Amino acid sequence: MDNESFRYWSHQAADWAADYRASIGERPVRAQMTPGAIGKLIEATPPEAPQSMESIFADFERIVPDGMTHWQHPRFFAYFQSNAAPAAVIAEQLAGVMAAQCMLWQTSPAATELEIKMVDWLRQSVGLPDEFKGVLQDTASSATLCAVLTMRERALGWSGNQQGLAGKPAVRIYASTRTHTSVDKALWIAGIGQDNLVKIPTDENFAMRVDALRAAIAADRENGLLPAGVVVCVGGTSIGATDNVQAVCETAREAGLYSHVDAAWAGSAMICPEFRRLWRGVELADSIVINPHKWLGASMECSAHFVREPQTLVKTLAIQPEYLKTHGKDGLVNFSEWSVQLGRRFRALKVWFLLRAYGLQGLRARIRNHVAWSEQLAARLASETDFEIVTAPILSLFSFRYTPSNHDTDLDALNLKLINAINDDGRIYLTQTSHDGKLVVRFVAGQFDTQESDIDIAFTTICEVARAL
Ligand SMILES: *Cc1c(COP(=O)(O)O)cnc(C)c1O
Repeated sequence: MDNESFRYWSHQAADWAADYRASIGERPVRAQMTPGAIGKLIEATPPEAPQSMESIFADFERIVPDGMTHWQHPRFFAYFQSNAAPAAVIAEQLAGVMAAQCMLWQTSPAATELEIKMVDWLRQSVGLPDEFKGVLQDTASSATLCAVLTMRERALGWSGNQQGLAGKPAVRIYASTRTHTSVDKALWIAGIGQDNLVKIPTDENFAMRVDALRAAIAADRENGLLPAGVVVCVGGTSIGATDNVQAVCETAREAGLYSHVDAAWAGSAMICPEFRRLWRGVELADSIVINPHKWLGASMECSAHFVREPQTLVKTLAIQPEYLKTHGKDGLVNFSEWSVQLGRRFRALKVWFLLRAYGLQGLRARIRNHVAWSEQLAARLASETDFEIVTAPILSLFSFRYTPSNHDTDLDALNLKLINAINDDGRIYLTQTSHDGKLVVRFVAGQFDTQESDIDIAFTTICEVARAL
């Protein structure tokens, strides 16, 4: 492709992008597809001869958009939103064209130095003390894996990477029963094993029972096991379960354990001072992850991983063969030493564009609206006789059930049927979770462009679809 064609097709893509955004609200939110339908439209074998961009672009338009679930749709209320604010998207285009591999300072000084600054902007935005430094990981799963590896190495006196875990006392990690499965997976990958993830029961507020945590640590010590760290949950994925960060981190400190706060979703809301009560005591943590690629708008992949002592993380993850050394420059930050992956994208650019284009005021206003609208919707549903709120809003997430009085059959089956019918309807998109053994409908507001009228449509759709079942 010559440069004039590149310019032309870049413009075509930009036009397509703006048209897509302008009409996204008219699309069904969740892809209305049967499995395999898209695959059938794709050639079975790669082309030998080059094909024209006209044909490639036409096939893209013909095949792909209708096969997408539209995450930037203003009536996306499922999972947790994965926002790509327009300013962040533009930054991604620029980062994509420079396509730097930002593993070391010298492989792209601007990427490294902007990342240092943007992590610090994010730190200030969520009100963390300035001793926290950090890195932009790809995902919260990676940040949590890095934290778990740090817990392991710190507890083993940095012998695990060298010697492996055979013959060593079992490393024990503690987390509530409501933490994300990325914690389980981190233990699998770290070689610690599922059986050494000690799941601590939660109290009536869905928070980890600190007395049970203390007892579990003491019991493990007595049995010759090696307590290493605690993962603290703030805004859990299912229903927003949140631990008492202060109490858990204090307990971890007293026991000499490393603490990691998983606030992947809720962390973005901490740009609003009034929501920081949710993670009160967070300054006691050793490691914290928030996902600006969820609620804030930074577009995948962008997880801010803050650490109190970067040297502990770097000691766990840095590996320096001669070909990766940068001679003659002291005090450099090489972010590949802070993460699992070596090669890394230029993630900081979209954070810079995002924070500047909307300002903290603009981002706070969105989050405050989402929380207020979600509370209003929960109240509206609660006042309908055939709906029941199962878990009250935690920030903008709540769960509910359809419980018509004339329905004597299985309410789980009925609610699953409701979710499927709502998503087939296409006006909104919701997902389910299991809570206290019941299947419940999750509602979370948080899409970047959601308006109050979209919440009204959600209310109407939920009621209409349920009563037509
Ligand atoms: C979304 C989420 C994760 C996983 O985030 P990824 O960035 O997709 O790895 C982990 N923990 C919580 C609480 C989450 O909400």
